[in-house]
Amino acid sequence: MNNLVLSLAPKFTKLQTLILRQENPQLEDSAVETIANFCHHLQELDLSKSFKLSDGSLNALARGCPDLTKLNISGCTSFSDEALEYLTNSCLKLKILYLCGCFKAAADRALQAIGRNCNMLQTLNLGWCDNVDDSVIPLASKCLHLRSLDLYYCRNITDRGMYSLAHSRVKNKPSVWDRYDEEGLRSLNISQCTALSPPAVQALCDTFPALHTCSGRHTLVMSGCLNLTYVHCACTVQAHRMLMTRVVLRNLYSIR
Ligand SMILES: [Zn+2]
Repeated sequence: MNNLVLSLAPKFTKLQTLILRQENPQLEDSAVETIANFCHHLQELDLSKSFKLSDGSLNALARGCPDLTKLNISGCTSFSDEALEYLTNSCLKLKILYLCGCFKAAADRALQAIGRNCNMLQTLNLGWCDNVDDSVIPLASKCLHLRSLDLYYCRNITDRGMYSLAHSRVKNKPSVWDRYDEEGLRSLNISQCTALSPPAVQALCDTFPALHTCSGRHTLVMSGCLNLTYVHCACTVQAHRMLMTRVVLRNLYSIR
């Protein structure tokens, strides 16, 4: 795979999308550096599970591929937060960023840089990055186009992080002319984030009307958070109220 990329990348200088997902990681820095040296128009790059790659790869991409909009480096466990910060300083068009399992890279410094630089970010996956704590706060207040956030197994996230996400929504509430329902988080995974309490998650659920706990939609995923059983979206509450009204009415009529 590595040699293939080394020989082919120089021939595809207009390449926009490149998926290099591998089951057995073979990709080395030399391949990514070649991509960065020749494919300057690259917009989508998937390097997931390439755990042989080092910071040299991210630095090369920062210099050679400023048009990246979608980057998947999930499972690339060697990348540092310094290199990720450097990348976000250059790739300002990032809309989709998968950092699942990048526990070294997804540290405070890089997350602050994402908040500062990636104003167009829509999707962020921080699953399994258990270093992540309330450092989501800068993201919350800066990445106003964030629609999908995956915090699976980020066990150090606390209520403070949830309230800051909710607060960013209130603070940046769009004007009446904007299409309100299309703004804000539409998908949030906080499965296994066991430090969160029901009031904080409920506040978030109330703030983002597109987050649903009801079956069918289920855009707020909380698997493994047993204490969050009582968090519900508005339609679940409404359905429960209607059911209770029906029960009360039925009882009233049966009494008569
Ligand atoms: Zn619902």
